[in-house]
Amino acid sequence: MLAKRASLAELAGEQWDLIVIGGGITGAGVLLEAARQGRKALLLEQQDFAWGTSSRSSKMVHGGLRYIAQGEVRLTRDALRERERLLRDLPGLVERAQYLFPLRDGRFPGRWPLTAVLSLYDFLAGIRDHRFLPTAEVLMRVPGLDAAGLNGAMSYTDALTDDCRLVVRCLLEAGRLGGRSLNYARATGVSADNGRARVDVTDLESGDSLTLNAGAVINATGAWANRLGGAGQRIRPLRGSHLFVDPARLPVADCLTLINPRDGRPVFVFPWEGVTCVGTTDLDHGDSLDQEARASGAEVDYLLELINGQFPEVKLSRDDILSTMAGVRPVISAGEGKDPSKERRDHAVWEDNGIVTVSGGKLTTFRLIALDALCAAGLLAPRDARRARRSNAPLFRPLPDAPEQVDHFLHGVQDDEALLRWILTHEAVVHLDDLLLRRTRLGLLRRDGGAGLTALLRALTGELLGWDGPRWDQEWARYEAIRERFYGVPPADRDRAAA
Ligand SMILES: Cc1cc2nc3c(=O)[nH]c(=O)nc-3n(C[C@H](O)[C@H](O)[C@H](O)COP(=O)(O)OP(=O)(O)OC[C@H]3O[C@@H](n4cnc5c(N)ncnc54)[C@H](O)[C@@H]3O)c2cc1C
Repeated sequence: MLAKRASLAELAGEQWDLIVIGGGITGAGVLLEAARQGRKALLLEQQDFAWGTSSRSSKMVHGGLRYIAQGEVRLTRDALRERERLLRDLPGLVERAQYLFPLRDGRFPGRWPLTAVLSLYDFLAGIRDHRFLPTAEVLMRVPGLDAAGLNGAMSYTDALTDDCRLVVRCLLEAGRLGGRSLNYARATGVSADNGRARVDVTDLESGDSLTLNAGAVINATGAWANRLGGAGQRIRPLRGSHLFVDPARLPVADCLTLINPRDGRPVFVFPWEGVTCVGTTDLDHGDSLDQEARASGAEVDYLLELINGQFPEVKLSRDDILSTMAGVRPVISAGEGKDPSKERRDHAVWEDNGIVTVSGGKLTTFRLIALDALCAAGLLAPRDARRARRSNAPLFRPLPDAPEQVDHFLHGVQDDEALLRWILTHEAVVHLDDLLLRRTRLGLLRRDGGAGLTALLRALTGELLGWDGPRWDQEWARYEAIRERFYGVPPADRDRAAA
C-alpha cells in the first residue's frame, strides 16, 4: 500500500532493481508491472502523483475513434482490449459510457462511413454496441442540441474513469506487491553504465538530496522526458484544456462527440462526477513546463463558442464554468509544422546512454506501455512480455478495508467522511491540493472549491496528518492560490494565442 509518505533517507540504503522516474499513469503502470514480476522497484515523482498530464486527460478509457479513422488498427485493437480488461477489473472506477455522435447535413463523417468505422471498432473490442438513432430520439436524449441540419446520430460505447484515481489505484496495487513510491521527490540527474544506474534525487519537502542506486532506470516523465537525458526523440508538448461546467446550465446524460464546424476537430461534452465536462483543445504548449499547465482565455472562448453553436439556446458564459483544467500531451513529434491534431498519439520507448525512456501513448494502454518499457530495460524477456500481453489474469484485487467509493469514483460522493479518512491514511497526501485537486476532485467540481467542508477537512487533517492551525492556514492559502491560478477561469483577453 502507499500509506503515509516515506522519507527519502528510509529508501536510500536499498539496492533497487528498478527506479522509475515519473508518477503519472506511465510510471505507475511500469511500477505495477515490475512489482508483478517480483522486481524490487521504486517510483519517484517530482510533485504529487498524477500531477502531470495524468490528472488532466479527457478521462476516456478508449480505443480512440480518431486512431481507427487514421488507419491505426493495431493501436486501436490493443487499446480496446485493454479497455475491456479494465472494465472487467475495475468496475466502478472504469465504467462503460454511452456516446452519441450527431450527424449533420453535408458534414463528414456521414452515417455509412461512421457505421463502417464503428462496426470495426466494436469488432476489435469483441462487442456489438453501436446503432443509428433517428433525429427525434437524439433531440429527446440531448435537449437543446441544435436541430438545424441534424440527421440523427450514431450511438456507441466507450468508457470513462477518473484518471488520477486510476494512477493511485495502480500505485496501491504495486504497493501490495512490494513496489514503493515517493511523491515530491525530484530526480535531478541520472547516469548508468555496466548495469548499474544512479539517480540523484532531491526531496522537495525536506530539501535533502542524495543518490540512489539501481540496476535499471526508466524515465517515464512524459512531457518532461527530454529534460532527463531522453534526447533520442523529440517530445512536442501539446496542450489540451477542458471546462467543468455547472450541470444545471448544460445537462447531458450521454457523452457527445461534437465536430467543431470551424476546424473539423472533435470536442467531447460528457457527464463526469456530477458536472458537465467540455474539451479539449489541441495546441502547442509554449509555457514553461516548470509550472502547472493552465487554460488560456482563447481556449475558453473556443470551447464556449463551440457549445453555444451546438446548443443555441443555452448561451453559456464564463459564469457557468466551475473550473478549468489543462494538460500537456507528450506527443512524439513527426517534425516541424505538422498540424497538432494530426500528430500520432502512440508511445515510444528508446534508450540513451543506458537509460530507457518511455513517453507518449494513452491512459488506456498503460499496461502494454509498461511491458514494452520493462523489455527495453532488460527486466522482462520478450517471450514473457508476449505472454503477459495475452494473459487474462485479473490486474487488480479488491482493496481490503477500503470504503467502496475508493474504487467507485464516478458517482460524486467525494466528501464522504469515511472516504476522506481512508485517503488521508492510505494515499500519501502531503498537501491539501493533493487531496482536493487529485485524490478527490472537490476543488474542480464545487463552485466554492470545498470551502464549505473546511470544518470537516480541518478536523481530519489535524487528526490524521497532525496539521495544527498555522499549517492548516498555510495549506489552505497554497491550495487557493493554485486553484485560482491554474484551475480558474481566465478572462477573455489574458492570452490571445489561437486555440
Ligand atoms: C488534454 C488531454 C486529454 C487526454 N485524453 C486522454 C483520454 O481521454 N484517454 C487516454 O487514454 N489518454 C488521454 N490523454 C493522454 C494521456 O493523458 C497521457 O498519455 C498520459 O496521461 C501520459 O502519462 P505519463 O505518465 O506519460 O505522463 P504524466 O502524467 O505527465 O507523468 C509524468 C510525471 O513525471 C513527473 N516528472 C517530470 N520530471 C520529473 C523528475 N525530474 N523527477 C521526478 N518526476 C518527474 C511529472 O511531474 C509528471 O507527474 C490525454 C492527454 C491530454 C493532454
